[in-house]
Amino acid sequence: MFGMYIHIPYCTRKCYYCDFNSYALKGSLKEYLEALKREIYLYGQFGFRELSSIYFGGGTPSLCSPEEIREVLEKVRELFFVPDDVEITLEANPEGLSLERLSGYRDVGINRLSIGLQATDEEILKSLGRPHSLEDFSLAYQWANQAGFENINVDLIFALPNQSFIQWQESLKYVAELAPTHVSLYNLEIHPDTLFHKWFNQGKLRAKEDEEELEQYVWAIEYLQGKGYQHYEVSNFALLGRQAKHNLVYWHNQHYFGLGAGASGFISGERTLNVRNPEEYITLLQQNILPYAERFEVTKEIEMSETMFMGLRLLEGVSLEMFQKRFGISPYSIWGQEIEDLVAKGYLETSNTHLRLSRKGLPLANQVFMAFV
Ligand code: SF4
Repeated sequence: MFGMYIHIPYCTRKCYYCDFNSYALKGSLKEYLEALKREIYLYGQFGFRELSSIYFGGGTPSLCSPEEIREVLEKVRELFFVPDDVEITLEANPEGLSLERLSGYRDVGINRLSIGLQATDEEILKSLGRPHSLEDFSLAYQWANQAGFENINVDLIFALPNQSFIQWQESLKYVAELAPTHVSLYNLEIHPDTLFHKWFNQGKLRAKEDEEELEQYVWAIEYLQGKGYQHYEVSNFALLGRQAKHNLVYWHNQHYFGLGAGASGFISGERTLNVRNPEEYITLLQQNILPYAERFEVTKEIEMSETMFMGLRLLEGVSLEMFQKRFGISPYSIWGQEIEDLVAKGYLETSNTHLRLSRKGLPLANQVFMAFV
C-alpha cells in the first residue's frame, strides 16, 4: 500500500517565517491542477495501486474549491484503488473558508482537516504575516464541526520571538478547549530566504533562548496529556485512535507518492523530488514528463538509517522485531556503540521490544537522530 501526498504550492500571501514551497496566488489554479491530474495519470500507468492515505498539503490547499478537489480525487479514484475508509486530509487556512465550502469538501470525500492557527494573539498573528484573525479561525472551526468533520488537527507554533510564556499557554488552552482530535506543535525555526531571517540578521528579531523554548515545549506536553491527548510523536498529539494515518506512513518509512511542485516521494526503492517551481512543473507535465528534479536509489543502508531516525520520532520508538524482519539485522549490530552512548547519556531508552527516545532525549531529538544518519 502507498500513501499519496499532493502539494498545492499557493497561499493567500507568504507568511514572514515560511520556507515551504509556496507562493502568493495570482490568478487561477486551473493550469496547475491540470498538470497535477496529468501527474496522477502518469503514475497510474504503473499499475492499479492501493492507497492507504491521501494528504493535500501546501501551501494552502483550501484555496482550491470543493469542485477542484473533487476533480483531483476523481482522477485518483480512476487510477488507484481507494478503499472507503481511507483517511483523506486537506490542509486549510482559516481565511476564505465558509460553511458552504467546508460542507463541499466533506461531500467530495475529505474526512480530515488540518487547520493552521499558529497562535491566538492577534498581534502575534500579524507579526507572523498570517492572513487571518482568531475570529476567522473560530468561525472556521465551528463551520467545520457543522459540516460534519469529526477529525480535525490544529497547528500551533511555539518559541515565537515576541510570544510570552503566558501567551503560549493561552494559545494552547484555547485549542484544548475546542478539543480537536489532533494537535501539532512546531517550534519556530528561522530559515534562510525568509523575512524572519532578514530581520534576525538585522537585529530586529530576537530568537527564543533554548531554555525558554524547552520550557514552552515541556509545559505543552504535560498540559495536553492532562487533557487526554496521547503524545505519540515529537510534535504531535492525538485523542485515542486519532493519530494521523498519513504521517505514520512517513514515520514508519513506508512508501508514498509525492505529487505536485516540490513534493518528494518514496516509491519502488527510489526517493523522488519534483521540481519546485510551479511553472516548470506545469511545463514538464504539459509534455507528459514526470517532473522530477531528482531521483535516487534508496540503498538498504539509507533505508535502515531513515527507518531508525524517522521511527524514533514516534514516542513508542522503533520496534526491534519490525527492524529485524524488514532488514534481516538488528539495529544493535549496526549502531551498537552509538546506542550504548546515547543510553549512557540518558537520551535513549531500550526495552526487550523497542528503542525509544527518553524524556530527556525528546527535546534533543534532532541531535539524537544524527547518530543514525
Ligand atoms: S500559510 Fe503556511 S505554507 Fe502558506 S505561507 Fe503561511 S506558513 Fe507558508
